[in-house]
Amino acid sequence: MKVTVVGAGIAGLCCAYYLRKRDVEVTILDSAHVGARSASSWGNGGWIAPAQAGPLPEAGLTVYGLRALVRADSALYFRPSYLPHLTPWLLRFWTYCNQRDYDSGTAALAALGKRSFQLVDEMVDDGVEFDLWKLGMVCATSKPEEARKVLRSLEGMRKHGYDLPDDILGEDEIKAIEPSLNDRVKAGFHLEGQWNVKADTMTVGLGSKLREMGVEIVEEAEVTGFDRTDGAVRAAHTTKGDVTADAFVLAAGSWTAPLARKLGVSIPMEPGKGYSFLLRPKVMPRHGILFADIHAGVTPLGDRIRIGGTMEFSGYDLSIDERRISNLFRLASDYVELETPDYEEPWAGLRPMTVDGLPVLDWAGPYRNTYVATGYSMLGMTLSEPGGEALAEMITTGRRPELFEPFRIDRFPRLIARRPAR
Ligand SMILES: Cc1cc2nc3c(=O)[nH]c(=O)nc-3n(C[C@H](O)[C@H](O)[C@H](O)COP(=O)(O)OP(=O)(O)OC[C@H]3O[C@@H](n4cnc5c(N)ncnc54)[C@H](O)[C@@H]3O)c2cc1C
Repeated sequence: MKVTVVGAGIAGLCCAYYLRKRDVEVTILDSAHVGARSASSWGNGGWIAPAQAGPLPEAGLTVYGLRALVRADSALYFRPSYLPHLTPWLLRFWTYCNQRDYDSGTAALAALGKRSFQLVDEMVDDGVEFDLWKLGMVCATSKPEEARKVLRSLEGMRKHGYDLPDDILGEDEIKAIEPSLNDRVKAGFHLEGQWNVKADTMTVGLGSKLREMGVEIVEEAEVTGFDRTDGAVRAAHTTKGDVTADAFVLAAGSWTAPLARKLGVSIPMEPGKGYSFLLRPKVMPRHGILFADIHAGVTPLGDRIRIGGTMEFSGYDLSIDERRISNLFRLASDYVELETPDYEEPWAGLRPMTVDGLPVLDWAGPYRNTYVATGYSMLGMTLSEPGGEALAEMITTGRRPELFEPFRIDRFPRLIARRPAR
């Protein structure tokens, strides 16, 4: 069997890895290259955080979103000029902002993330080389009620077997665990079950391993269309010529939606832009840190920390809005004592955001030899390993695993009002 995977971000590379493990002949096509800065898998927080896997739409987000509409420095931002295009997505997104969908989405993501740590460990044992730290995570806030709110939002994970603290810690206790926290922090909690990677080392490491395993990676080969006959895709048209295969996997991150549209398949997904940069702190954190007040994550990367955050809906635009990144830097500087008062390596990436915050792992509509692996939203580094493993099983056995039921491509109804209960 010969499978062509479109996209060399973490989603595509993981699919290719598990397909190759099943003795499938694999080719990867990417419009850029493995480890490209333009991919969301390059400069993200790199948290492997299955216990934090709640979907983005949650009850109460609606009001926040409305307020944020006009504020360019807000953590969640919709660019006004993009709103006419975004409105249908936004309306559908709002239909999922309720407790029932949040709970069922959390359950689905909790089940998918169950094997993340084990699979990452197995990759390391298999000789995939990347920077990995098993440090755990600290949530730190300026007000105890904020820390309590975050802990409550994770509560649904407890019944799925994830270890969570029973209560928050006070200022002295949380600082004893994480001495890098400054006086602004008054409360928090500590979670052991979180690892972090330097994201670009993981994609580059996987790319090298895949080449060693005999996978062909064709770079600078943008897929521009497909050849179809008898309900099957026969070839992908690329800027480097046509590529034929028995099966295809569309794993092109945010760009999967326009790609699938070329097959007449609709995925309600929008790019959600996030920013990150590097800082030199005076005291290196011992953990990943979630500064929940400012919606920013801290990833220790040896001699620097990466700060990541913000969610901006402004289309397929990778430019860096100076106001937004400066604001994130200003907010972060209040929480981190800096060795050098400036940020390095500013970066923007596009998260593939579905309307319900869950990935799409399924056949591409009517095409029985074409699959979709996308929509990992804020959790691609965490969930691409189990998603890729189970998708490889689906492709080689022809059966959709039970685990994938909540991630079906046909779960999105055409009419918002007629959405069935999950
Ligand atoms: C600021 C920020 C912080 C984040 N932090 C975390 C975190 O801590 N933990 C976590 O789990 N997740 C995190 N995420 C989310 C994570 O980055 C994404 O979910 C994940 O990277 C998506 O991977 P992907 O492979 O689907 O897409 P991408 O990494 O974007 O890869 C898509 C690939 O497809 C290629 N491509 C596109 N179109 C075509 C085409 N037509 N033909 C061929 N190739 C094509 C692109 O060149 C690219 O290489 C974060 C995201 C951001 C922005």
